[in-house]
Amino acid sequence: MSNSALSTSFSGLDYLIVGAGFAGSVLAERLAHALDLRVLVVDKRPHIGGNAYDRHDDAGLLIHPYGPHIFHTNSADVFDYLSRYTQWRPYQHRVLGSVDGQLVPIPINLDTVNSLYGLKLSSFEMEQFLESVAEKIDDVRTSEDVVVNKVGRDLYNKFFRGYTRKQWGMDPSELDASVTARVPTRTNRDGRYFTDTFQAMPAQGYTRMFEAMLNHPNIKVMLNTDYREIVNLIPWKQMIYTGPVDSFFDFKFGKLPYRSLQFQHVTLPVERFQPVGTVNYPNDYAYTRISEFKHITGQTHSSTSIVYEYPRAQGDPYYPVPTRENAAMYKRYEAEADARTDVTFVGRLATYKYYNMDQVVAQALTAFKRLRARHERQDAQEISALTRNPANIALSDT
Ligand code: FAD
Ligand code: UDP
Repeated sequence: MSNSALSTSFSGLDYLIVGAGFAGSVLAERLAHALDLRVLVVDKRPHIGGNAYDRHDDAGLLIHPYGPHIFHTNSADVFDYLSRYTQWRPYQHRVLGSVDGQLVPIPINLDTVNSLYGLKLSSFEMEQFLESVAEKIDDVRTSEDVVVNKVGRDLYNKFFRGYTRKQWGMDPSELDASVTARVPTRTNRDGRYFTDTFQAMPAQGYTRMFEAMLNHPNIKVMLNTDYREIVNLIPWKQMIYTGPVDSFFDFKFGKLPYRSLQFQHVTLPVERFQPVGTVNYPNDYAYTRISEFKHITGQTHSSTSIVYEYPRAQGDPYYPVPTRENAAMYKRYEAEADARTDVTFVGRLATYKYYNMDQVVAQALTAFKRLRARHERQDAQEISALTRNPANIALSDT
């Protein structure tokens, strides 16, 4: 298509949305459905869904090419919103850690401690045990502090030190407390990874849900396209940007580190590979964890597909890296982003936040409310300008 043809076919466009992941798709859906605005969603990948994209592999097994994505939230608003576009299959994720030759529950719970140390503690006794081994830290700042403060050095070394060093390429003492604080400690026997109110997988997969969200005559989707290829060719009024924020500003304050992963997908001619959805390997191997999709999707099949995650410094940006220096650099980008009235920055990469899917949906819904209020103000101003001008009233009467 020539440049002028491209420009003509998108004339009347209200929003250019960069990224077809949760952030971009929720906003596209809201702007089109609730405000009847015209949007173009552009993604450089060959598919919608961002990192939550799923597909069937050659064996016919539903897999998550970008690693296992388990939906969980405490927000009824987020769950109700997504429920307009998918039905759900209830699923409670379980994770075991491979430690000292045993597979034991992580988050650390009563069974973990009893199995590892050959004990028969009650919940109450486990609390006392943890108190006796915890290294009390007054000012908990790092990812090491969080864990040793709760469970002491030995459990920290067994479960967290090696995994975190592999996953992030740095010691937990260099990472913000919020990273390992994602994983709680329990003194009961609850073996679920999450305890959120809503825990379920989209019944037909994430991609079907995204297709339903984006299925609206006002929404056009352009894949395999970096927004920079079209940003000056297409006449847009507002932009939603969900890619990496540093890249948007041409790295003017430096490169924000994002941690990457290499995924190794394998299909095996067996029904089951491992007892639960994910097994973590904190201390052995170059990979951090293996996930088996059939647990997560509920699919029945004579074969099974698994994925190994190998952490990488280079590659697609998956995780913002929460350190003090990175937060300081992000603040500078954030100030630039806030100053742009024509662009709204949303999502894990654009706001440099280690967000789960539900948090990104909530952030996008909040951004939508702000944009809607702005459109309502603009509409009100236009109406008042029209009614204040007698020529317009005369015109509209004819
Ligand atoms: P993304 O999904 O990254 O979407 C951004 C999109 O923008 C991408 O598709 C990208 O191609 C596109 N883009 C970027 N730059 C450009 C450009 N220049 N031009 C055009 N397009 C561009 N969350 C959970 O809740 N539960 C889980 O179990 C879970 N597991 C995860 C496991 C892994 C391995 C990873 C990496 C993340 C996991 N998450 C999980 C987090 C989840 O993936 C994110 O919260 C969510 O996908 C973020 O959505 P987003 O729209 O902000 O970003
Ligand atoms: N973590 C760990 N050992 C584990 C599980 C988690 O050290 O067995 C730490 C690690 O630093 C990890 C963080 O806790 O990056 C958060 O874990 P989560 O499972 O939430 O990571 P994600 O699924 O987001 O990759």
